[in-house]
Amino acid sequence: METGIFNERSMKSLLHTKRIGSRLFCLSQVDSTNEELKRRFMADEGLPDGAVAVTSDQTAGKGRRGRGWETPPGVNIAMSVFLRPKLMVDEASMLTLLMALAVSRACSEVTGQKCLIKWPNDVIVDGKKICGILTEMSVRDGGIEYVIVGVGVNVNTPAFDGELFDKATSLMLMTGRSFDLCELAALIMDHFETLYETFLNRRDLGFIRDEYDSLLVSRGKKVRILDPKGDLEGVSLGINDRGELLVELSDGSVRNIYAGEVSVRGVYGYV
Ligand code: ATP
Repeated sequence: METGIFNERSMKSLLHTKRIGSRLFCLSQVDSTNEELKRRFMADEGLPDGAVAVTSDQTAGKGRRGRGWETPPGVNIAMSVFLRPKLMVDEASMLTLLMALAVSRACSEVTGQKCLIKWPNDVIVDGKKICGILTEMSVRDGGIEYVIVGVGVNVNTPAFDGELFDKATSLMLMTGRSFDLCELAALIMDHFETLYETFLNRRDLGFIRDEYDSLLVSRGKKVRILDPKGDLEGVSLGINDRGELLVELSDGSVRNIYAGEVSVRGVYGYV
């Protein structure tokens, strides 16, 4: 089903991109924008780098490790970008950091308030999540077939309750006003394209490191790394050029944490 809040013509008029959104699927409702792009790829293996699926009504949004992303219809952005980057498999997780920065830039621009990043995949305001990112990858013959970077942004949600009361916030809760979903989605795509183009040329994150570190919510704080291979505690120092989180342990040694499957917690709270 096409149209809904997002429609192709008005989105294209807002976009300044060449690649991101060159193919655009504006959906009135979908289970998951990540799943939609996988289906589009199954139906057409020529799906271009930069294809985007976007909706304001995602009924079965996904988080990491099988968790859900809950979003009421009509008030928020669920958007995924389909990428075919010429990268090694272990470089793909850097795309998550680029998207987090794109969302942070766009949300800061429209609200006038600093939106921080919880490495690797959340954007945070007032210690709560306004955006979650889920990156999924398909590997064929040892190389990347495609990467899908999915974003959920809480834009005009008026209130959260239950489990999300302490964990989630929205741009509306931040500012007391509502935002145009199409304009914000286009702005995120614009920022992502700028970052993605530079990244493809350089293949590392040195060019965003200072900005990223200045937005890192955990920087200089004690964090606990929840890792299936064993938890770790230390002080978060910032990222390296590969997007790994540098954590100083109590013996003074520094560990590089790879984004893959780990979660970061503040030792005294969620962030
Ligand atoms: P962690 O916090 O462990 O690092 P994560 O940031 O990777 O996890 P995700 O898997 O990306 O979390 O997102 C799923 C989680 O986000 C859910 O378990 C739920 O707690 C929370 N969540 C679900 N919907 C929303 C929402 N609309 N806004 C904010 N948080 C949400």
